[in-house]
Amino acid sequence: MRSVRTTPAPPSLEEENSYLRQQLRVLTEEGRCNEAAFKRSHQRELDLLTAEDLPQLLQAMTQGMQHSFQLPCISLVLEDRDHELRHLLLNSGVPPYCYDDIQFCDQLSDLSPIYHRLTHPFLGPPTGEEHTRIFPIRERLRSIAILPMIRRGTLIGSLNLGSRDPSRFTRHHASDFLGRLATVAAICLENAANREHLIISGLTDALTGLHNRRYLERRLSEEVSRAQRYNQPLGCLFIDADHFKQVNDLHGHSSGDQVLREISLRVKECLRASDVATRYGGEEFALLLPQTDAREAFHLAERIRQRIADHSIPIGDNKEIEVSVSIGVSELMPATVKNPGQRLIEDADSALYQAKRAGRNRVCAQATT
Ligand code: GH3
Ligand code: MG
Ligand code: MG
Repeated sequence: MRSVRTTPAPPSLEEENSYLRQQLRVLTEEGRCNEAAFKRSHQRELDLLTAEDLPQLLQAMTQGMQHSFQLPCISLVLEDRDHELRHLLLNSGVPPYCYDDIQFCDQLSDLSPIYHRLTHPFLGPPTGEEHTRIFPIRERLRSIAILPMIRRGTLIGSLNLGSRDPSRFTRHHASDFLGRLATVAAICLENAANREHLIISGLTDALTGLHNRRYLERRLSEEVSRAQRYNQPLGCLFIDADHFKQVNDLHGHSSGDQVLREISLRVKECLRASDVATRYGGEEFALLLPQTDAREAFHLAERIRQRIADHSIPIGDNKEIEVSVSIGVSELMPATVKNPGQRLIEDADSALYQAKRAGRNRVCAQATT
């Protein structure tokens, strides 16, 4: 028997209409959702952009975002190699340790290897220690979004969202809005830090009360001109705390700060009123010594070194630690040398490098040629 092939009847006009209406409803709903997502995302960016200062911005990035995303956990990880952000916060009256949900680190990759390769948002389930370390608040998170904060091509941290819902962040979700939010956050952070700097720093270092590097750069050209005009020597010292990273690692950042303050005090006690003492950055200090030749500068450096090495430094809780510094010494070269001011600094810096290489806790002078 031959089989009879039946072709399905074409949909009636009414069925086709109903199908199209259904499609339209889906598309309209999708459009509405997209518009709502766009509005929410826009509002989040505005919240960051309108923050008035650094503490307010960090608040908006953490608690503000937590509220807006309705998530149990948001964290922020920031690289802060020279402790600049932490000091700005201290100075603004909201110490960095007040933020449970922010981790400041010297190097992002020390916290988690994920930062070696974080160029785009990561969305998915937390898969182990490398993810969970990013969320200091222990929550049972089932899906996370780690959003890289990139400024001028450099990763400066990440904004991290954590959910208990495994389907909240998956690799199938579009991450454009989230990626953009983290970029806006990075720009806002840089601006807020710059603003804060302008207000507080001027020419003074907030932690030690010494002058800062900008001041040194200004004074350097004045002192070089003066020395050349009156044919007087000008000495320079570069001082760097030895193994200072260990002080932080073993005793904590605020003990490290105490040590830096004490080093500054002891340095100041050895100086004359005309000497210029600056905190050059991190745990480094640069000194300009008018009317001081390399030999005198060397003796002064030796006094400073001993004053620090011979008496341990109290760090609270009845604890004291032994700290040493290495010092490089240089003297201004004759005016015939190209850019003598810069050379003075470079010579002290390379003498310091020699002192480090020779074993630390010592003074080295740059051999003049
Ligand atoms: P070296 O003897 O070779 O100089 O070793 P180091 O550990 O002193 O040098 P390194 O450059 O490896 O580390 C410097 C450390 O100083 C790292 C950084 O966390 C710390 N540091 C920089 N600025 C500050 C600050 O203002 N406060 C505190 N507590 N630590 C700081
Ligand atoms: Mg150093
Ligand atoms: Mg050091």
